[in-house]
Parts: sequence; structure tokens; C-alpha cells
Amino acid sequence: MEIKFLDLYKQYCDIKEEIDAAIQSVIKDTAFIRGPYARAFEKEFAAYQNAEYCVGVGNCTDGLEIAIEALHLKQGSEILVPANSFIASAEAVTRAGHKVIFCDCDPDDYTISIESVKDTLNKKTSAIMAVHLYGHPCDMDALSDIAREHSLKIIEDSAQAHGAEYKGKRVGTIGDISVFSFFPGKNLGAYGDAGAIVTDDKILSERCRMIANHGRISKYDHEFEGRNSRLDGLQAAILSVKLRHLDTWLDARRHVASQYNMELEGVGDLILPIEREWARHVYHLYVIRTSKRNELKEYLTEKGIQTGIHYPKALPKLQAYAYCEQADEDMKANQYDMQVLSLPTGDHLSPEDVSYVTNCIRAFYE
Ligand SMILES: *Cc1c(COP(=O)(O)O)cnc(C)c1O
Repeated sequence: MEIKFLDLYKQYCDIKEEIDAAIQSVIKDTAFIRGPYARAFEKEFAAYQNAEYCVGVGNCTDGLEIAIEALHLKQGSEILVPANSFIASAEAVTRAGHKVIFCDCDPDDYTISIESVKDTLNKKTSAIMAVHLYGHPCDMDALSDIAREHSLKIIEDSAQAHGAEYKGKRVGTIGDISVFSFFPGKNLGAYGDAGAIVTDDKILSERCRMIANHGRISKYDHEFEGRNSRLDGLQAAILSVKLRHLDTWLDARRHVASQYNMELEGVGDLILPIEREWARHVYHLYVIRTSKRNELKEYLTEKGIQTGIHYPKALPKLQAYAYCEQADEDMKANQYDMQVLSLPTGDHLSPEDVSYVTNCIRAFYE
């Protein structure tokens, strides 16, 4: 049996007619950059995330950098970033002219540790990068309390968390500004690169829109030097179609997760993901931990099951962050990178597929 980690072609086939029609209409209207399709998607996505404003951008990495720039933080100030994330969460900080300081993660839900944030912040700290890792929201009330007390801004990296909820509220507007990725493999993915910045703050959203479009107020009137990072019409039209199916796909992910939880409970030394009582986890990734990670991964590959590792090296261990000198710090994030394994999940899996995976995992431990 072959179990794919992700099957975007199958998903396309499920909605082929809608997608093909959307692509044709963008071409017919030659609405390639920004334009009506991008505006329509921005409105729909803002409504979906319960946000006032949405600005489409070229990708989430750009979006994070633009969002940080728009916050007008003190140049050279420090931003706290979880040590267990994709490099983009940290990259954007440096590129926007700030200093990355890594914090540890919570041992149970893997989002940024509140304790570590409290221990790490100092007078030079200006903001917190709240990454809703794997699709589980950060503890936003705790972070907001800290931010208020120390006058910090909160940037939400929501790349993995479309539709995730914190205490019944969609992520994206609890912090000051939030950025989503529509990289093809994300829960809501385009057919190329795309991203969106979401906020309730009108001024921030206007600043972001200008930065992302050459600092422009009209076609050849530029107020300042910006850059080019815009949502294109084809991606927007595809995303509008896919947004209509997102809740069904998220439900499928939550179903797969609960089946994994049930069938893997107590197996070997596995540590299964949790969902806090205040969270709606959207399981962009279903991540387990085990001391036998490499052996298990290899075994599953032999059984035709694709798995992933998110992420094989904690950020402080990357060459890019050697200068931070945090690779040897006593952080859980610096150990978990050797234990985490992401199992296949998504709307392409049937209950039988999931059982095949869990049976193989049980067999591995027996
Ligand atoms: C995917 C991802 C990004 C980057 O998104 P792009 O759209 O590919 O730039 C940033 N942060 C996290 C946590 C991600 O998973």
C-alpha cells in the first residue's frame, strides 16, 4: 500500500471543474496582478478569519517581513522567535532589521513557551513572533498579557493555522498583525507562491499594502521605497475556489487526528499531539515524538508510508544562526528535532489508510 504524505493532484481532481473555470476567467480578463480576483479573495479571506483587513502578498515570508516593517519597531531591537519553526519566522526578523532571539517551546503543544518568553525578554525586546505551529494556536491571552505589560507587539505567523481558533476566536487578529501562507502544501494552498497579511488595524494594513506595492499611492506616485510582493490573479482565483472547501478539508484533518489519537494511544514510547481545551487545532501537521524516530521513519518508508520531519534541525542549530550562539542552550526545542515525526494527514486519506499507518506503527513496536 502507498500512503502519500500529501496528495494535491487528487485534491485538484475533486474540484477540477471549479478550478479550471476560475483559471480560464482570470486569463480571459487578463487580471494577472492584483486586480478584481485578488480583491475578491482578500475580502473572502478577511471574512473567513474574522479580520477587518487582508492584504494579499507574494508569499508568507515576504508578508512577515512587510508586517514587521509596517510595525515601525525600534531599529535593531530584538524579536523573540520560537526555536522550533521554519526558518521564515526568523529570517523575516533579520531582513526587517531586527535581532532574532530564540525562545524554547512548550513541551506539550509545541508553541512558544510562555515561561521562556518571560525569562528571555529584556529592555531591547520589541516584539514576539507567535507561530501557531503545526496548526495549534499559541496561548494568546498569556502572550497578550506579557505584551501589554512590556509594550511589545505580537506578530502571528499563521502559515500553518488557517481556521485555527483560540478560545473560539480565529487566529489572525488576536495579535497586532498576522501572516498566512498559501504555499501549495499548506492547509489552504495555491498553485504557486502566495500569502496574506491580516489585521484589524487600518493604518497597519494600508502601510503593508504600500510596502508590498512599491510604496505606491497611485500608478506612478510613490511615497517611499517599497518592494514588489503582490498576490497574483491566478493564485487568488484558485484560492477563492479552495477557500469554499477549506472547512471540509479541516474537518477531514481533525478526523484523521482523532483516529490516530485513538489507535496510537499507549503504543510504544509514542507521545501524541495534544489539543488544549481552549484550542481548535487544524492539524496542518500531525506530529508524534519517539526516541526511535529514525528507525520508525525508515520502517514506515519500507511499508510505503511517506512521513516528514518538522523540523530536522532546531533553528539555533542551523548554520544561518550560528552567530546567535544558542545551539547548545538547554532548550527542549534543541532535543525534539531528533524525536519528531509527522504522519500523513489530509483529505486524501480514508479511515482504512489511517488504520494501515497505525497498524504498521504498532507492528514496529512489537
Ligand atoms: C510555510 C511557512 C512559512 C513560509 O511561508 P511561504 O509562503 O512559503 O513564504 C512561514 N512560517 C511557517 C511556520 C511556515 O510553515
